[in-house]
Order: sequence, then C-alpha cells, then structure tokens
Amino acid sequence: MDRSSDVLAGKHAVVTGGARGIGLAIAQHLVRSGAKVSVISRSALCAPGDAAFFRARADVSDEGDVARAIAQCRDVNGPVAILINNSGISESAPLIRTGKTMWDRVIATNLTGTFLCTREVLGDMLAERYGRIVNIASIAGLYGAPYIAAYCASKHGVVGLTRALAAETAGTGITVNDVCPGYTETDMMAQAIASIVKHTGMPGDAARQRLAQMNPEGRIATVEEVADVVMALLTSDRTGESIIVPGGMRV
Ligand code: NDP
Repeated sequence: MDRSSDVLAGKHAVVTGGARGIGLAIAQHLVRSGAKVSVISRSALCAPGDAAFFRARADVSDEGDVARAIAQCRDVNGPVAILINNSGISESAPLIRTGKTMWDRVIATNLTGTFLCTREVLGDMLAERYGRIVNIASIAGLYGAPYIAAYCASKHGVVGLTRALAAETAGTGITVNDVCPGYTETDMMAQAIASIVKHTGMPGDAARQRLAQMNPEGRIATVEEVADVVMALLTSDRTGESIIVPGGMRV
C-alpha cells in the first residue's frame, strides 16, 4: 500500500472506463491504496492482473444501465465513497460536418454519463457525509481547439457540472474536482494521431509532435501522472478545482 492508504483503505471506489488507459492507471493506484475498486465499462475486458477489481458492464449514457451497474458494485463493495468519472470518447470533424448523431453520442457519453453516474452515487455520499468525486475532463474543457466542437462542448460541460456540484455540496464532506489532461498516451490519442494522418497525409511522428505542442510543457502526458493528480485530489479537502496535466496548474 502507498502513502494514501491511511485515507482510502477500505473505501469503495468506482472508476468508469477503468478497463484501460487513464482509468486503468487510476484503478490500479486505488487498489494499491487499499480501496475496494469497482470498474464500469461497456466491455468486460480488463488488463491482465486486474483480479482486484469488481467489474460491471454499462454504457454510462444509459440511465438504466448506470442504475443497474452501480447497484451491482454496491452489492459487492458497499456504499460508494469515491467516484472517478473517466469514461469518455473523442470524435473529430469540422463543425459543418458534425452530424447530430455524432454530437449526441459525444455529449451523451462524456457529459450525460458523468451526470448519471454522479447522481446515482450521491445519496451514499450524503448519507455518510463523505465523498470524493473526480471528473476526468480535458484541457478541451477549459480552452477551444479546432475540429473537436462536440468533444470540447462536452468537456466544458463536465467542468461546469463539477463547479455546480462543488458549490451545491460545499460543507457536506463531499469534494468535487476535475483533472484536465492534455494529450495523454492511450488508445484515444492513437486514434487522434490516426485521424490527423488520414485527413492531412502528415506522417505519424509529425502528427504526434503537433499534438504534443498543444499540451502544456509541449509533451505528451502519461497515464501515471494523470493518476497521481487524481490520487492527490482524493486525499485532499479541496473542492471545485480544475487541475491541468502535465503542469499541475490549478484553474
Ligand atoms: P480510452 O479510449 O483508452 O479509454 C476510454 C474508456 O472509457 C474505456 O475503458 C472505455 O471502455 C470507456 N467508455 C467509453 N465509452 C463508454 C460508455 N459509453 N460507457 C462506459 N464506458 C465507456 O481513453 P483514455 O484513457 O484516453 O480517456 C479517459 C478519459 O480521459 C476520457 O474521458 C477522455 O476524454 C479523457 N482525456 C483523454 C485524453 C487523452 O489524450 N488520452 C486527454 C484529455 C482527456 P469500453 O469501450 O469498454 O466501454
């Protein structure tokens, strides 16, 4: 167990999208802290060595799925004390070619999914007068970027939801914050590079460099450094903050 074990040991943490990428790194950190970890995603797939997690299958944009999955997690690991809203998708297109189906899918997964999962666990946290909610937003939740209007709007919505709920729960023992990664080494970033290569003919290395230059510090973030910031928020009483990674700047 690591140094956060005093605070988090024995607490039930739910990580959406914890089967891979940033969510998996967070789930693994939580296990090392002694938390009881439940992971929710649409597929049952998880990395090798993840037997420490309870896994429930759900599409976070589906109200019934979320209610069922959280109930299963609660049956196994008890009331939810920690929620990491990490499930997300990214799709890109110029606004003029952004279809309503794509718009709806991105908003439903990234923003409505965060709302539904949060609402489902909030009663547990209010009853215990303790809760830690961390939403994985994005620097696209704080700044604009071309060709990702739906994603940008969804993540700005997540930041707004974080701030609203932080105000609503102030003084209740519940904290609500978001972490705003820049481009981070995961399947999602590989898709972003593939999309640039496909649409511009740019070599993969140049596309990667272009994305790195959009990040604070001009480099690609690692899943470990995003998870480290999440863990710092879980062991703090701060609320209503957005933290940019890499860089650790508070907004
Ligand atoms: P990945 O694509 O590697 O993983 C996404 C996770 O979300 C998967 O576990 C996936 O599981 C789950 N997921 C996707 N859609 C749904 C859904 N409808 N219901 C339930 N689970 C779902 O992405 P990352 O790890 O890169 O991203 C994690 C979060 O970090 C996202 O919110 C993303 O927007 C954000 N982020 C990522 C950045 C990056 O550059 N990688 C930068 C900034 C923010 P499954 O497919 O099985 O459902």
